[in-house]
Amino acid sequence: MIIVMKHTASAEDIQQMITNVEALGLKAKVIEGVERTVIAAVGEERVAGIHSLESGPNVDEVLPIVAPYKLASRELRPEDSLVQAGSLAVGSGQIGVIAGPCSVESEEQLLATAHAVKAAGATALRGGAFKPRTSPYSFQGMKEEGLKLLAEARSQTGLAIVTEVVSPDDVDLVAEYADVLQIGARNMQNYRLLEAVGKSHRAALLKRGPSATIDEWLLAAEYILDGGNQNVMLCERGIRTFEAHTRFTLPLATVPYVQQKTHLPVVIDPSHGTGHTHLVPAMSRAAIAAGANGLIIEVHPNPSKALSDGYQSLTFDQFEETMAGCVKIAEAVDRKLGVMQ
Ligand code: PEP
Ligand code: MN
Repeated sequence: MIIVMKHTASAEDIQQMITNVEALGLKAKVIEGVERTVIAAVGEERVAGIHSLESGPNVDEVLPIVAPYKLASRELRPEDSLVQAGSLAVGSGQIGVIAGPCSVESEEQLLATAHAVKAAGATALRGGAFKPRTSPYSFQGMKEEGLKLLAEARSQTGLAIVTEVVSPDDVDLVAEYADVLQIGARNMQNYRLLEAVGKSHRAALLKRGPSATIDEWLLAAEYILDGGNQNVMLCERGIRTFEAHTRFTLPLATVPYVQQKTHLPVVIDPSHGTGHTHLVPAMSRAAIAAGANGLIIEVHPNPSKALSDGYQSLTFDQFEETMAGCVKIAEAVDRKLGVMQ
């Protein structure tokens, strides 16, 4: 349920409503919007006495939240959420660009990439230190050593760090170094991991599972929000279909659809979404045209030598050109890429 408070509601009235909600065995989450303060009563809504909430102090109305995901839903929060983590701002008019290698491979590789993507206008650096690989024989990442290199890249460039966490046990370690915890497609329904990230003070980038429905994806985001972490970005990275010409199928209708259903920002990953370097620039531009709040793009100094995902990585020059194209599209749709507005 959503309890919409009147404009005249005082801090005590809001506190009283929280007490009333909790007395019913529900969790109370206060959302301060521009226009109104609402209190979400989250949990089993069929509890006896739920209608008594309507007679609370300075209550305007009590409405059901129809969507299965309560905290993620637009019904709860009509305004877009803005997620900020260091130099990265995504949502509510801000288009963030996260760029960098699939995996952190060496100091030289990472620092060269960090400086190049920054110069081209990226607002955050990506790089996997813990890699979820399909084969146990593939490169698994540099782990903590990789995290240290990412922190060094941040101190040299000022770019926020986005890096994946693959296990609940590693959340604290990764959060020591990262600004944004990436939850990979393979882990979208790892509920213990989602809960651990929900307790973290770091922002989260939740990738869509390749065979997850949008409702399943938003319910996964709900786990993180329910844990108390409000800084959640969704990332569409392509789904598995019968089509084999691209690595995955990148559905850009996800952007306007998800934006209708949720206040959370949506970031597009054209690298994993297509699996081919030559398709990344066009799909980056298309994502911006569709209204995406951000992009995450793989960039490598020498893609043919990359330890993972070289075939879908851009060179520095290709990334610079892609950014130039995206800037033009952003202007055409009255948005600005990267820059705080
Ligand atoms: C990645 O970002 O390198 C990655 C492993 O992505 P995904 O989880 O979308 O496959
Ligand atoms: Mn990758």
